[in-house]
Amino acid sequence: MRYLIIGNGVAAVSCAEAIRERDADGEITLLSEEMHPAYCRPLISYLLERKTDREKMLYRPADFYEKLRCRVEYGVRAVKIEPAAHTVTAGDGSVHPYDRLCVATGSSPFVPPIEGLAGVRARYGFLTLDDALALDEAALAGSRVLIVGAGLIGLKCAEGLHGRVKSITVCDLSDRVLSSILDIQDAKPVEEHLCAQGIELLLGDSAVSFSPGYAVMKSGIRVPFDLLVTAVGVRPNAALVREAGGECGRGITVDEAGRTSLPDVFAAGDCTESRDTSDGKQKVMALMPNACIQGRAAGIAMAGGEPVPSPLIPMNSLGLLGLHIMTAGSRPSAEEGGSEESVRTGSGLRRFFLRGNRLAGFVLIGDVTRAGIYTDLIRTGRELTEEEFAFLKKNPELRAFDVKTRRNRLGGVV
Ligand SMILES: Cc1cc2nc3c(=O)[nH]c(=O)nc-3n(C[C@H](O)[C@H](O)[C@H](O)COP(=O)(O)OP(=O)(O)OC[C@H]3O[C@@H](n4cnc5c(N)ncnc54)[C@H](O)[C@@H]3O)c2cc1C
Repeated sequence: MRYLIIGNGVAAVSCAEAIRERDADGEITLLSEEMHPAYCRPLISYLLERKTDREKMLYRPADFYEKLRCRVEYGVRAVKIEPAAHTVTAGDGSVHPYDRLCVATGSSPFVPPIEGLAGVRARYGFLTLDDALALDEAALAGSRVLIVGAGLIGLKCAEGLHGRVKSITVCDLSDRVLSSILDIQDAKPVEEHLCAQGIELLLGDSAVSFSPGYAVMKSGIRVPFDLLVTAVGVRPNAALVREAGGECGRGITVDEAGRTSLPDVFAAGDCTESRDTSDGKQKVMALMPNACIQGRAAGIAMAGGEPVPSPLIPMNSLGLLGLHIMTAGSRPSAEEGGSEESVRTGSGLRRFFLRGNRLAGFVLIGDVTRAGIYTDLIRTGRELTEEEFAFLKKNPELRAFDVKTRRNRLGGVV
């Protein structure tokens, strides 16, 4: 059996591992546009911060591919899938036949068309190890940095550069930071924290044009800069499957085993969209744990197994200059039977979003201890009694549940 995987990130590696567990002899090949062995992408800001190094960023040990007996073709970009011929063509003209294919191509930055942007020489993205290495080299003690985009990637970049450069300004057209996961009320303490650390935020405002050395904002003000980082958003790399005739929404449409609508073609990770267990909606959930779960499910199915369905939910856990934030699940509207409750703890704020008597989502700011109990409740959709929830919202502890439930969740340990 010839297995071909496009990509070499978390989803691709998980897929290769799962294949090898079931098929000792099959030929596994990964096509990797990036020139590096798989690394932990969320660590690129820690590299910039000098809290980690390239060796520690490796997602698997250096001899991983050799031990797994799979081949990686570095610097090879797949450009076309021909489902009828069961081949993938690469940018260098090479043709790669497959019996089973997994597309694990991740996402790409979206760069908005802004006047003068193409002329900015000191311009960086912040998605790959190469982006971080380039920024690491360019950042000097006297640099003034402008980051366009106050989402997760823009703020992680600000954290990485904090203390290394003269100034950091982050702008966003949205009226708040982390607008895809926080509402205005939750974003406030995060903004105050960032400002207290010396990061300038320009919200509800963004660059409309660039001239040598400065940006002109929508509000008319000029922001001088030496280095520009664009972190406006990412888009799933679904084009290969879409152009081959496969079903796609924003991402590649897959079932729980990673099957696409094309025969013998699977997909996993940030390039896909799948069902969010917390609200039943089909969406892109571009997160590392999901990439790992999906890659594994696809690998099992590609090797002829039947993966155990694993509920996926959107989930973000991030630290920003010492402030911990965690969000998960969804916020049902009142029409959908939704309600919410907030609890202040000594060091933070917890907001819970319920659908009827089930936890659908949460936002934790400052205090994220034992959040796994809440994510588990969302994943399992467990009904809660009033007493259980009253206890759990203040104390994320398993003793809120009866002995039978505790046994089930802990596999008989209690
Ligand atoms: C700064 C930053 C911080 C993050 N923090 C978090 C976090 O705290 N928690 C979390 O859960 N997630 C976080 N993420 C997201 C997380 O990194 C991704 O969800 C995860 O890496 C997705 O894995 P993947 O394998 O699907 O895709 P990727 O890791 O993107 O891998 C895809 C690979 O495919 C390659 N490729 C693409 N197209 C082709 C082609 N045509 N031919 C050959 N190769 C191709 C790409 O070059 C890439 O190497 C963060 C991301 C960034 C950038």
